[in-house]
Amino acid sequence: MKVVVAKESAPDERRVALIPDTVPRLQTMGMEVAVQAGAGADSFYSDDQYRQAGAMVVDDAGALYEGAGVVLRVVAPTLEEADRIPEGAVVISHFQPLDRRDLLERYLARRIAAFSMEYIPRTTLAQAMDSLSSQSTATGHQAVLMAAERLPKFFPMLMTAAGMIQPSTVLVVGAGVAGLQAIATARRLGGVVEVFDVRKAAKEETMSLGATFIEVDEGVDAATAGGYAKEVSEEYKQKQAALLGEHAAKADVIITTALLFGRPAPKLITEAMVEAMKPGSVIVDLAAERGGNCEITVPGEEVVRHGVRILGHTDLASRMAVHASQMYAKNLQNFLKHLTADGAFKFDMEDEITAGSLITRDGAIANVRIREAVQGAG
Ligand code: NAD
Repeated sequence: MKVVVAKESAPDERRVALIPDTVPRLQTMGMEVAVQAGAGADSFYSDDQYRQAGAMVVDDAGALYEGAGVVLRVVAPTLEEADRIPEGAVVISHFQPLDRRDLLERYLARRIAAFSMEYIPRTTLAQAMDSLSSQSTATGHQAVLMAAERLPKFFPMLMTAAGMIQPSTVLVVGAGVAGLQAIATARRLGGVVEVFDVRKAAKEETMSLGATFIEVDEGVDAATAGGYAKEVSEEYKQKQAALLGEHAAKADVIITTALLFGRPAPKLITEAMVEAMKPGSVIVDLAAERGGNCEITVPGEEVVRHGVRILGHTDLASRMAVHASQMYAKNLQNFLKHLTADGAFKFDMEDEITAGSLITRDGAIANVRIREAVQGAG
């Protein structure tokens, strides 16, 4: 089976789906790899490295896609790119089908089998394929570094001949994968870290990283069976807002990561809370792509309001392209290993991972959740 690694075309996307190290591993699975010329350039993997690893490097888009069995990407293709993929081939990428109805329709019309990395179930078995986790690890780390670079203060406590420096306080809202990595990085830099989350399991994880967990209501555990957060009551929201306001006013840095699956991000940091913060403080809103946890966030931009700098960048994993690509390539390698046998896709719909992440196949919507959502919308 021919595996095609496309060069990413989305603005500010520096990652690549497969790195040279992964090429021989795919070959042992009965696959040959063709890489679009320059695909790894922005993440510092050269065409020569791919060639040395055993891949073909192809300049011409027509020749690249000819006979492709599977196309690997980080970001879903544009419609124009999708039209180059041979009918009946497989595409694996990040893909939010409900946000990309145009692409969903195109995949159906062209009988393309599309897997979405976001729809891989968050189970222990699927952990090694879980790109939401691997990329969030990069995002959480990068968020703290960007905040530290912009903060006009030290992170650690310092005893110097010129006096004592108080450590910076970092408030992390949402201790999922990105939040936990942000806590770890902030602690390594010597910051004092405080954490909010609605899931009880987050408390232990937070404390094991040496941070303080702020309990809103000891009786509440807003976790779904799948481990995600669910909507909390109005009473909880009010209590949380009061406590958040108190802690935000004392924080030097706030990193927000709170998400509810398939919903817009909850607005947790109000403009009034920002106004009460110390001038010079920094907020990094990792929920910016889904609307932001802070009322002031502008997705993709950095703004200063009431003396507070608010970062709404959505390309944090891409800013760590070398390691983010390395981890993504490993996720894809594991995913391909799970989905194929003797170099061919199994399409085993009894398998939870396949059933969860296969969105379209043979001109039909294969995924139950997406089918229901599309039919529900008329
Ligand atoms: P996420 O990106 O969906 O959300 C980030 C965090 O925000 C979560 O911890 C969530 O509880 C929190 N949050 C949501 N609403 C909030 C609010 N109003 N106030 C404060 N916090 C709020 O989370 P994620 O990083 O994708 O992780 C989701 C869950 O999946 C976690 O339980 C994680 O441990 C689990 N997980 C399991 C596996 C696995 O076993 N394979 C892999 C990855 C993640």
